[in-house]
Amino acid sequence: MEIIRAKVLGFCFGVKRAVDLVEEETEQRGSLSTLGFVVHNPSVVEDLSQKGAKVVKSLEEVPTDTVTITAHGVAPAVYKKVKEMGLNLVDATCPIVSKSQKAAYELAEEGFKVVIYGEENHPEMRGVLGWSKGQSIATMDPEIEIDIPRRKVALIAQTTKSEESFAEFVGKFVAKNLGLINELRVINTTCPETDERYDAAKELAKTVDLMIVVGGKNSANTRKLAHTCDSQGVETHQVETADEIERQWLVGRERVGVTAGASTPDSAIEEVEKRLRSMA
Ligand code: SF4
Repeated sequence: MEIIRAKVLGFCFGVKRAVDLVEEETEQRGSLSTLGFVVHNPSVVEDLSQKGAKVVKSLEEVPTDTVTITAHGVAPAVYKKVKEMGLNLVDATCPIVSKSQKAAYELAEEGFKVVIYGEENHPEMRGVLGWSKGQSIATMDPEIEIDIPRRKVALIAQTTKSEESFAEFVGKFVAKNLGLINELRVINTTCPETDERYDAAKELAKTVDLMIVVGGKNSANTRKLAHTCDSQGVETHQVETADEIERQWLVGRERVGVTAGASTPDSAIEEVEKRLRSMA
């Protein structure tokens, strides 16, 4: 049985940067708190916690003198509160998310209604919504009824959405609302790292007879990656750890593909490959 890795898989640069930063800062300071999960992967979170980085849900819960903002970023109100509370700040916001926040801020300043193609309750979206001073909405529905004051509207996207799905959203939104718009601006804020993983997974899925997708069950992009493979018509299983792999999945398989979400560390991918080799 041949085991083949997708050409691009695992940690994206923003997540790797955040994890490295939290590790370095924890080592220097002894302990710190992270506002939410640094990465949607339980084993990485547990490892960081052992080193002294505790996850908190809100600033009120911070027991340390330092708090870290994760790669997803936060709204300006959170920076303000951190300052008011006298906490030290470690900012691990991904630079690509920062660009999206800046775009939302500037568009709102210019009087645009900002429509963000994304999931309203995703932490990144809560941050970007906060940067546009109440002038934006996040939605997955291109046909949603919205009020467009000044007939100026801008469309941006959650960074982890694929370019293809954003293009489809823009097309449907414009078809429905063009009569209400004088000025339209579209800024492509999708992250190339995400598309690279989807494309590589899709390419590999076409050439194998089983796909294993490694990543946290709470990682939206890992689930999407699994869906991408599944939609190529190949049997696909998402696993968080190597011991979830079942022997019966491998019966009669000749080529098994492996990919991993942007929040999956190399160690988890290696463990999966090791177990597949031992079962082959
Ligand atoms: Fe940054 Fe892209 Fe990774 Fe999100 S997926 S953290 S935007 S590099």
